[in-house]
Amino acid sequence: PELGSQSRPAAKRLTVLSGPSGVGKSTVVAGIRREHPEVWLSVSVTTRRPRPGEKDGVQYHFVSDEEFDRLVAEGELLEWAQFAGNRYGTPRGPVEERLAAGTPVLLEIELQGARQVRESMPDALHVFLAPPSWEELVRRLTGRGTESDEVIQRRLDVAKVELAAEKEFDTTLVNTSVRDVCADLLALITAPKV
Ligand code: 5GP
Repeated sequence: PELGSQSRPAAKRLTVLSGPSGVGKSTVVAGIRREHPEVWLSVSVTTRRPRPGEKDGVQYHFVSDEEFDRLVAEGELLEWAQFAGNRYGTPRGPVEERLAAGTPVLLEIELQGARQVRESMPDALHVFLAPPSWEELVRRLTGRGTESDEVIQRRLDVAKVELAAEKEFDTTLVNTSVRDVCADLLALITAPKV
């Protein structure tokens, strides 16, 4: 910590990064992980199966439905949500430990979870990651063109609702360049509280 920091406003130590699916949240988080190890990234629990290359305890803690039920019942999750048929949640203990130690903490979660954190930890800074344009988001969501028109339409309908959530956030970063977004996000994470 800087000298004289006691007389200055403390940094907002908990930052929530959210935004529509397909906007590139995980790419931004990977950039932060690589270039700013001083920021602690919460590792979520999920009931989804690991994708090829994903390691337990790195991208996620992969748990059974029963284990997830237990974590919810015992109040061990700071927030949790159902997303695309699977459940995801943030373990409370590690986040609280890091915050108590003064370490900046970053959560990368979807919108329902962000709403729960807004209720339970009102000091958190909420950052919305927005696509450069609607056309660009459509391009990213339609991807390889392997999905049916119906599936694509459903994703686009969801994305429209998700984009409308921007107004709930403290600030927006537009994902034009991953490098710029990482730099801007780091500045926000370490910025003094206002
Ligand atoms: P994926 O399955 O693609 O890794 O993640 C799907 C969605 O779940 C993403 O939007 C991601 O941000 C979100 N997510 C990941 N971990 C959590 C979590 O702990 N809580 C909530 N609410 N959402 C999460």
